[in-house]
Amino acid sequence: MAWDFETEPEFQEKLDWVSAFVTVEVEPLDLVLGSAYDVGNPDFVRLVRPLQAEVKAQGLWACHLGPELGGAGYGQVKLGLLNEILGRSRFAPTVFGAQAPDTGNAEILAHYGTPEQKRRFLEPLLANEIVSCFSMTEPQGGADPLVFTTSARLDGDAWVLNGEKWFSSNAHLAAFLIVMAVTEPDHPDPYRRMSMLIVPSDTPGIEIIRTVGYAGEASSGHSYIRYNDVRVPADHILGGRGDAFVVAQTRLGGGRIHHAMRTIGEARKAFDLTCERVLSRFTQGSTLAEKQLVQEKIADCWIELEQFRLLVMRTAWLIDKHKDYRKVRRDIAAVKAAMPKVLHDIAARALHLHGSIGMSDEMPFMAMIANSFLVGLADGPTEVHKITVARQTLRKYEPTDRLFPSYHLPTARARAREKFGLASE
Ligand SMILES: Cc1cc2nc3c(=O)[nH]c(=O)nc-3n(C[C@H](O)[C@H](O)[C@H](O)COP(=O)(O)OP(=O)(O)OC[C@H]3O[C@@H](n4cnc5c(N)ncnc54)[C@H](O)[C@@H]3O)c2cc1C
Repeated sequence: MAWDFETEPEFQEKLDWVSAFVTVEVEPLDLVLGSAYDVGNPDFVRLVRPLQAEVKAQGLWACHLGPELGGAGYGQVKLGLLNEILGRSRFAPTVFGAQAPDTGNAEILAHYGTPEQKRRFLEPLLANEIVSCFSMTEPQGGADPLVFTTSARLDGDAWVLNGEKWFSSNAHLAAFLIVMAVTEPDHPDPYRRMSMLIVPSDTPGIEIIRTVGYAGEASSGHSYIRYNDVRVPADHILGGRGDAFVVAQTRLGGGRIHHAMRTIGEARKAFDLTCERVLSRFTQGSTLAEKQLVQEKIADCWIELEQFRLLVMRTAWLIDKHKDYRKVRRDIAAVKAAMPKVLHDIAARALHLHGSIGMSDEMPFMAMIANSFLVGLADGPTEVHKITVARQTLRKYEPTDRLFPSYHLPTARARAREKFGLASE
């Protein structure tokens, strides 16, 4: 009997350390620093670097990575338990060397990078000496990559890149960008027309048109970029020509589940704050906690959070078991699709139960609600992931060519009577 929801005592000790460290040392950073990616900011260097050193001393740096890349090699279940603590704080992923999109970019560099690409881009990225950008979405569409038009053509020993990208997070701070571009426009398979290119950010021709933010974000960080005849050496391709979709999938499987793990932490934070509030606020003859309509909201939050956590942890367990994201595609898509609603509903109840102060910019709930939309869009909108869940699920079913469904009761009853030798009705 292998179903087991226990955490090993030695790992629980580490989690207890992480929890105390995040609460005491890291969460306060969220209140005083801007971008968690601004590695050149002197305050970042002064405040964040010593905390990162403590994390390294604890052997908890970049735990999503295998030992060959300097990580602990924890599987996804352990990462889930760790990430749900990190999700409470905006800065915690950076302090623990596990911040998106650098994690996904490191994953594909580790997987597809040449020794030279690893030395130049991966090593400083893993050390958080630099940050990176994943530049894929275009102004005319993000959910459907087949509409992308940014192109790169080989000219002698260089790729020449032209086109526009939209919402490229951290481009203005990144040392390099990984850009998805059409390199094989005539390939008969549209999913083989694009390649991934590594573009150092000091390459001439990269024009940041503007950097966009969204409500509740600590600092604007998503760039609208134009690539004007940007020349990068021919060996700056990641994977083979036409491999962009395969490379992107390697990156997105892990990225989505890690987002979900952190979202548990963010939703739990909203819930914890709400529990304190309803026990403390006295109105119309009792505390909020004593009112049944409030109790229903508390119960709904707890149930939804625990349901979601179980789905995330089961998916983590499946990834550890199969060690192949493709075999867990439906589960990862389900987690991705469930995540925005769980965070939204819990944060919205938290906001509402706090009343006016809940709506104010003195509380975190508006930002959490904005984040619920973020997790519903970044790495693909919810609808697209629901389509994956439905398609993968329906594969296991067969249609019937009968006039009435195969489970039609009169037919099923007649079969049952025949099976047991009973006279027909
Ligand atoms: C905070 C944030 C950070 C981001 N960071 C990055 C980044 O670093 N790099 C990057 O390349 N991109 C990034 N993105 C972009 C993100 O990947 C896109 O927003 C996402 O893929 C959706 O594309 P879109 O915004 O163009 O929306 P559209 O493709 O226009 O879709 C809009 C809406 O249409 C609906 N829709 C779309 N397709 C379907 C369908 N098949 N069926 C039913 N309904 C559908 C959905 O409701 C969807 O939300 C980021 C986005 C956000 C919000």
